[in-house]
Amino acid sequence: MVLDRTLKMGMVGGGPGAFIGEVHRKASRLDGGVELVGGAFDIDPRKSKQMAKDLILDKKRCYGTYKELIEKELQLPEGERMDFVAVCTPNNWHYPIARALLEAGFHVMCEKPMTLTVAEARSLVEIVKKTKCVFGLMHNYTGYPMVKLARDMVRGGRLGAVRKIVVKYPQGWLATAIEKTGQMQASWRTDPKQSGGSGCGGDIGTHAENLAEYIAGLQIQEMCADLTSFVKGRKLDDDVNCLLKFNKGVKGVLHASQISVGEENNLAISVHCETGSIEWHQEHPNYLYVREMGQPEHVYKRGNDYVGAISAAAARGTRLPSGHPEAFLEAFANNYVNFTDTIRCKIARVKPDPLMDDFPKVTDGLRGMLFLDTLITSAKSKQKWTKFKK
Ligand code: NAD
Repeated sequence: MVLDRTLKMGMVGGGPGAFIGEVHRKASRLDGGVELVGGAFDIDPRKSKQMAKDLILDKKRCYGTYKELIEKELQLPEGERMDFVAVCTPNNWHYPIARALLEAGFHVMCEKPMTLTVAEARSLVEIVKKTKCVFGLMHNYTGYPMVKLARDMVRGGRLGAVRKIVVKYPQGWLATAIEKTGQMQASWRTDPKQSGGSGCGGDIGTHAENLAEYIAGLQIQEMCADLTSFVKGRKLDDDVNCLLKFNKGVKGVLHASQISVGEENNLAISVHCETGSIEWHQEHPNYLYVREMGQPEHVYKRGNDYVGAISAAAARGTRLPSGHPEAFLEAFANNYVNFTDTIRCKIARVKPDPLMDDFPKVTDGLRGMLFLDTLITSAKSKQKWTKFKK
């Protein structure tokens, strides 16, 4: 064992009725070794206290604001104070909170999109470099074992060079103006001040972009994008369509939508290579479809030895035998396992195993912000292709 104590976790955001904070609380503790000790859970300090009570946490470590959390936690001795803090607030708060935490020496797990602007993202890259703190970004879809298998197959070259990537993320929950009813998650997501310059693009387009770049090991360099707000009066896009040019001459298509009635979380990706292709669906995550030229389609199933023989990362991210489905929480937890193992190694001054280095980081957050910046510029432009900023 690298460290003979649990890691102490704090949280900012994730108050009563919030969505993703609770997922972080569950996933971070799925494998043990992590203890939630406190937080500033809500923008309203009274609700934050209520959350701490519901979670049966020490009242003294439930704070009114993130600033108070930092100030009071720093008064505790190392080993007792929070080792890392998960930032689960709406997007506009990610940068100031993550920045303050890193500068105070806390490791950070941050929700996506990482910031509101490219300038903030670049600044966070520098702060992580300077502070040497561990920074994780919750692009949870790369935590699935079969996505790791897809990555190792595609990058390993067994299907030949990549030619084309098709990635989609349709949802239907914003097909009507539910933000006008005060629905908590829709209200801030459709407000540019809290969400950023692109609604659907920031909320789920960045997941699609991150998944494509993760599996292929390539970077999008140019884009031809179209953004639409289908719902009357909505200030941000609720539908995204783009053509992509990756490096190495690879082409792609990305579409994300929140007005596709009946769609839930239908994230799916196909990677077409010279002699074969792979296909993966988030709603059926235990399977990877592999098609090789002249052969019948093969369905690879999570938890089998033949998966581990190709991908050590997929084997590491698997808890149950094949046929017992694993899904969203386990994939989320896989990012936490690699993130927290890296922190443990850092505290114990031990070199981490390379397999632990497999979680989205601050540089992925910058890629996401460059994607959004290009998306918005391209959609406004009459020009066919828009290049990513360097
Ligand atoms: P939410 O509206 O359900 O919850 C946000 C919470 O943050 C609320 O409790 C709110 O009171 C609190 N909050 C706001 N400002 C705060 C502040 N300054 N200090 C402390 N608490 C504050 O939102 P959500 O759907 O949980 O989304 C939160 C973040 O997670 C967003 O950035 C979103 O993009 C991201 N998200 C990621 C995934 C994923 O799959 N990785 C899924 C959903 C949401």
